[in-house]
Amino acid sequence: MEQKRIIIAIDGFSSTGKSTMAKTLARRIGYAYIDTGAMYRAVTLYCLDNGLADHDGNVNEEQLASQLGNISIDFRVNPADGRSETYLNGRCVEREIRDMRVSSAVSNVAKIAAVRRALVARQQEMGRGKGIVMDGRDIGTVVFPDAEMKVYVTASAETRARRRYDELVAKGNTAVTYDEVLHNVVERDRIDTTRAESPLRKADDAYTLDNSHMSIEQQDQWLLDLYHKITKQCNGQD
Ligand code: C5P
Repeated sequence: MEQKRIIIAIDGFSSTGKSTMAKTLARRIGYAYIDTGAMYRAVTLYCLDNGLADHDGNVNEEQLASQLGNISIDFRVNPADGRSETYLNGRCVEREIRDMRVSSAVSNVAKIAAVRRALVARQQEMGRGKGIVMDGRDIGTVVFPDAEMKVYVTASAETRARRRYDELVAKGNTAVTYDEVLHNVVERDRIDTTRAESPLRKADDAYTLDNSHMSIEQQDQWLLDLYHKITKQCNGQD
């Protein structure tokens, strides 16, 4: 019997490993993976490069709103390693959007209503055919409130900062300190959960995953088991 394709929404705090687990699940079950954080990061990079935001993320909202139509974001697969990469107006920005320069400003850009409206519409379009795993902050609450599978991922701020710091160092970024990364994680949590426009919160029907003490293999298995349980229910096999 053909399995019904569903929408999988994975939300949670920054640096919880959401994207790693979302990518692995998507690959295993043959779904597309969409990193919505990368879209907010790409808009932020556009603002920084075009003088619409300073390094603290103070944004000229009016100018940005008038230029949103000039910002084109898409994902392309790198044939060398099969990974999806973020493109901003035709240029690969995958590395640049992960820098601290962008991380420090992104939450202030992401709280602007016009930005959210534009990106949410784009995300809904991407998920129209179902069969997607999408990660972000508002996927289960705003983008796809009817998603069949919703997961809310959390871990302590220290655990998350340590993971992000190790990742940056592994990529050769030696200028950053652990304290800076921790500060950025805590600050983004604060802005993301307290903003007026679709703040980060757990959807009532989301499953919570606290992965503070889980290995990557354990969390991948947890997610896959949940997917099988939910698709069984959706296909009336339970
Ligand atoms: O997921 P990532 O940490 O790359 O996201 C970067 C930032 O983009 C978040 O801190 C948040 O401010 C914003 N974001 C958002 N809504 C989403 C995805 C990300 O506001 N759906």
